[in-house]
Amino acid sequence: MLRDLFINFCLLSTFLFFGDMALNILRNHFKASPIWLNLASGIGLGMFGIVQLIFTFKLQNGILLDFRQLSIIVAASVGGPWAALIASLIIATGRVLIFGGITSASIIGVVATLLTFVLVFPAFLLKGSFRLKWTVAAISTTIVALALLLYRLGLGGLPIIMLLAALQVISCVFTYYMVRYLRETREMHDMLKQEIEHDFLTGLYNSRGFESRYRLAIASGSPFALLLLDIDHFKKVNDTYGHPAGDAVLEQLGKIVREYVRKVGCASRKGGEEFAVILRPCDSKRAIETADRLRRKIEETPFLLPDGRLIHITISVGIGLYPTFSESQLVEETDRALYRAKQEGRNRGVLAV
Ligand code: GH3
Ligand code: MG
Ligand code: MG
Repeated sequence: MLRDLFINFCLLSTFLFFGDMALNILRNHFKASPIWLNLASGIGLGMFGIVQLIFTFKLQNGILLDFRQLSIIVAASVGGPWAALIASLIIATGRVLIFGGITSASIIGVVATLLTFVLVFPAFLLKGSFRLKWTVAAISTTIVALALLLYRLGLGGLPIIMLLAALQVISCVFTYYMVRYLRETREMHDMLKQEIEHDFLTGLYNSRGFESRYRLAIASGSPFALLLLDIDHFKKVNDTYGHPAGDAVLEQLGKIVREYVRKVGCASRKGGEEFAVILRPCDSKRAIETADRLRRKIEETPFLLPDGRLIHITISVGIGLYPTFSESQLVEETDRALYRAKQEGRNRGVLAV
């Protein structure tokens, strides 16, 4: 029995690990929507439930047990009620089709599987922590499994029922911690990824994010425009109204720029009061028009300071085109155009030539 238990433990760990990896690939690489992810979870865990049926573990008197309810609980916790239903139906169908057709044992198996779903479903609709939902689902399904065993073995089977109870508790606790660990690791990974490439104050890409978008734009091979934006006399805003007021202006400017380029490209805060926008695909006429409209919008927008006052700011813009300039020249030449815009009086855009 220990050997079978160990095999079940290894199967469970392996499946949870690789299943989580597959979901991450679907989510990040194939940009699968939540509906597809939930469907994939349900199907994957249903298939795993069948694997669990194959790797049952034997008790001394020949009784076969398995942990299929764990697949249904994991499906509900990872993919929601539909995933749990899909997993339950796959396991129930597999129980009849693969394991000996319609017999009294298989009917009890199907009933147990569907009953598990009926118990797990409301547990995950409860308001409360992830742990509470897991605990309710685990306790109710364990009670059902024990009751079914009691029905089959009668009171004489109490020692086995106690043993099963212990195994159920251990497996539920182990699976809970594994699912929670995988979930927390993914959330931390997503958060770190977001923070590595994004600017805290404005939510735009930071200079590292800009570098990777810039490389992607170059790699796509299509023409694009680069706008380098710099707030005019921003030091005066800080000196007059204070640093928090400067931060509020940067934050609002970030929102305006993001909203403005949302459909045509991407925006970054390169550092300080300097922003970069990549417009794809773009010729000189459209790039100049877009830069000018954005510049006017910023000029016309009142910026709200923390003390309730409203101020106006202006920006200067350098405009550069790819492939007019090569990958290595583009940023430098656009920066030079921005410098010219400053020298020519600010609040204007200048095309790099
Ligand atoms: P110019 O028109 O020539 O660009 O003048 P400027 O004053 O905007 O440029 P300068 O380079 O002299 O000053 C930039 C200022 O931006 C100085 C710095 O205090 C401010 N700054 C940079 N990063 C931040 C920030 O995160 N928050 C705030 N509040 N200010 C910042
Ligand atoms: Mg500057
Ligand atoms: Mg400036």
